[in-house]
Amino acid sequence: MFEGKKIFILGMGKSGCAVAKLLAKDNHVLITDVKCDDFNLIKELENLGVNVIITKEQDKIFDDSYDYVVKNPGVRLDHPVVLKAKEFDIPVITELEVAYRYLPEVKIVGITGSNGKTTTTTIIYEFLKAAGLPVHLAGNIGYPLCSQIDQIKNGDVLVIEISSHQLANLDKFKVDVAVLTNLYQVHLDFFGNYENYKLDKLRIFNNQDEKCVAILNKGDKEVYELTKNLKAKKEYFSSKGEANVYIKGEDIVYNGEKVVSLSDIRVKGVHNYENIMAAILAAKEFNVSNDILKEVLNNFAGVEHRIEFVRRLNGREFYNDSKATNVDSTITALKSFNNEVVLILGGLDRGHSFEPLLPYLKNVKQIVCYGETKERIKAFACENNIDVTVTNNLEEATHAAYNISLEGDTILLSPACASWDQYKSFEDRGDEFKKIVNELS
Ligand code: ADP
Repeated sequence: MFEGKKIFILGMGKSGCAVAKLLAKDNHVLITDVKCDDFNLIKELENLGVNVIITKEQDKIFDDSYDYVVKNPGVRLDHPVVLKAKEFDIPVITELEVAYRYLPEVKIVGITGSNGKTTTTTIIYEFLKAAGLPVHLAGNIGYPLCSQIDQIKNGDVLVIEISSHQLANLDKFKVDVAVLTNLYQVHLDFFGNYENYKLDKLRIFNNQDEKCVAILNKGDKEVYELTKNLKAKKEYFSSKGEANVYIKGEDIVYNGEKVVSLSDIRVKGVHNYENIMAAILAAKEFNVSNDILKEVLNNFAGVEHRIEFVRRLNGREFYNDSKATNVDSTITALKSFNNEVVLILGGLDRGHSFEPLLPYLKNVKQIVCYGETKERIKAFACENNIDVTVTNNLEEATHAAYNISLEGDTILLSPACASWDQYKSFEDRGDEFKKIVNELS
């Protein structure tokens, strides 16, 4: 708990504001950001006694009188305030660490990894909820833990998605059941290099002891090698060979016992089988029965905007994968379909190459592109003899894709680009796609 402390909160995102509200009761709290247009929020914080300062020069209002800096996970590690705090020997922590110190006796399941965090977190939550456990969903998934402290009781289970940005500044936070889904080279702009990024991911195991559990992807060489010497009990999943839970023929098997047939799982793709297997291991730590696991998997249609099934119309199936903001994610989506696909690509132009898609376009009958990248996508398609239709926006692209498609085809929005040329977020883009699709007749 924090009492009578002077706390400097850097960043007015969801988590920053949640920390401010929690700490305001017993501490002197200042929160700052470079901009904030939400005047109701500012008023609400001020009414709680929080000092709100909007400025570009945050280091000018920071001095050595503070006891803690609470950094929004997205704020860079070389931000002037963070550097100054180091100089003054002031601890820099994140929202999760603050929340941790307010928790009663609970069990924490923490999920991290380069890809699949949100999906795995959601499946674990669904498993535990279906088993009737007192479970809360929190973290990077959009629900700051600080805003849930009042509802958490002794004996509850917290399922928390933890990004590498959040792990970077954890201190005492202990994860009873830690899941590491996989390791890819991402976020190098933030962490400086891949070595730093990997080391931060491993921090999820930092405070674990022999009573804790580490759930690990045995099929990911790097995960396997880097976690050999953990203190926690290791439980492995793999889509590539035998493990505590693995794919045997057409079934997912846990310690030799069939849990579910692949054909009874609604979500698509080997990557999703991996997420499911990690989630099964977590659920088994809470003795969830195979019947419950199977029932949840029969019904789970995926997380919104991640290869999300939208609709079947005249024999075509529409999928929304708006979360695919880079080429790697689009490859993952393409690997999940065996039938003919009309692929909608396009969005913000970061100058990235579409070339890596090439080996995965065998069952793509046509690309429909739109947005800032449309001309570059057209050039890429033409160079590689792939049929392409250029449109101006997502609505035109969706109609064009539908007109091109035949019965039995999949129409897939997996844009391989960020959304910010025409949308506020990938969620907005996905919502619009679903609206357009649902209005088709
Ligand atoms: P995260 O929360 O880590 O960003 P999500 O569960 O939101 O992950 O999935 C985002 C995208 O990452 C998915 O649309 C898919 O393309 C890819 N993905 C999901 N799970 C995996 C996995 N286990 N391995 C590789 N890629 C994955």
